[in-house]
Amino acid sequence: MGKICSRCDRQAIYHRAYSGEYLCVQCFKRSVEEKVVRTISKFGMLRYGDKILLMVSGGKDSMSMLRILSKVVKSHASEVLVATIDEGIEGYRRDAIEISAEACAKLNVSHHVFSFKDLFGYPMDQIELLKEGMSSCSVCGVLRRRAMDIAAQKLNVNVVATAHNLDDIIQTFLINLLNNDIKRLIWNLPVHHETYLFSQKRIKPLAEIYEEELALYAFLNKERFQEVSCPYMHEGIRTKIRSILNELETNHPGIKYSFFNSAIKIPEIITTPTKERKNCEKCGYPTFANKCSVCSILDLLNRKNIRQK
Ligand code: SF4
Ligand code: ZN
Repeated sequence: MGKICSRCDRQAIYHRAYSGEYLCVQCFKRSVEEKVVRTISKFGMLRYGDKILLMVSGGKDSMSMLRILSKVVKSHASEVLVATIDEGIEGYRRDAIEISAEACAKLNVSHHVFSFKDLFGYPMDQIELLKEGMSSCSVCGVLRRRAMDIAAQKLNVNVVATAHNLDDIIQTFLINLLNNDIKRLIWNLPVHHETYLFSQKRIKPLAEIYEEELALYAFLNKERFQEVSCPYMHEGIRTKIRSILNELETNHPGIKYSFFNSAIKIPEIITTPTKERKNCEKCGYPTFANKCSVCSILDLLNRKNIRQK
C-alpha cells in the first residue's frame, strides 16, 4: 500500500521531504500554484493593472510559468504578453519557438520573437566562430539580457517575468560568489529593477519552487516542452554546483530553502549604490564601466568579422 495524501484521502505520488508531506497529483499541482501566488504577493511582484511580459523559452520551467501566470494574472486583471528570444542556434531554437507560439495561441496570449540577428547583427551560430576567448553562455547571457530589455521597451510593458526557479537562484548566487561577481548578486533577487535607464520591474515568480517540483509539475500537466539541449551548453561549474546542492538537500531536506533566504538577504545588504553607475559611451545604456558589456562584445565580434572578410 502506498502512502495517502496528507491533504486529502487520495493516493500520494510525491513525498515533499522538506515539509514531510505526502501529496496526490491534484494536491501537489495546487500546492505549486498556491506557492507561486504566495511568492508573487510576498515580494510585491504584481500590482493591479500591470502589463506583464513573460519570457518564455519553450523549456519546462517557462512553459509552467506561462500556465500558472496566465491563470493568476487573470485575477489581477492585468495584460499579459509573451516573448521568446531567438539566439539563432540551428536545430535548437526553432522547436522551442513553435512550442511557445502554440501554447500562446491556445491561451489567447500574444507571442513575440526577438532575434539576436535582428537586434545585434549576429546569430549565436556566427558568434561561436567570432567570440575568441569568451564562453558561449557568457556572451549569450549578456546579449539575452539586453534583448529582454529591448523587448520590454518595444512592447511597452512595466513588468518582465522570467522562469528562474529556486535552484537557479541559489546556483547563480554561489557562482557569483566564486567568481567575485558581487555586483551581479542583485540581478538574482526575486524582484529588482534591471536598469536605472528603463523602469521595468524584473520578477521571478517561480523563485521559491524547487527545480525538481517544477519538472514534476510539467510532467503531470503533460506539458509539451523543448527537451533538446543547446549545443553550446558546456558542462561547467553550474553542473557541479547543482549536484553538490542536490546532495546536500537529500541529506538535509530544506537546506536549499534556507540557502535561498541568504541568497536574497545578502544582496540587499551589500547593494552597490546607484551613483556608481555610468552610461555606456556608445549606446547610453546603464553600466559600471565606460563601455557596456554588449558594446564591448559587439566591438570584438565586429573586429574579428572584418579581419575575416
Ligand atoms: Fe545561450 Fe548557453 Fe543557454 Fe545555449 S546554453 S542558449 S549558449 S546561455
Ligand atoms: Zn553600450
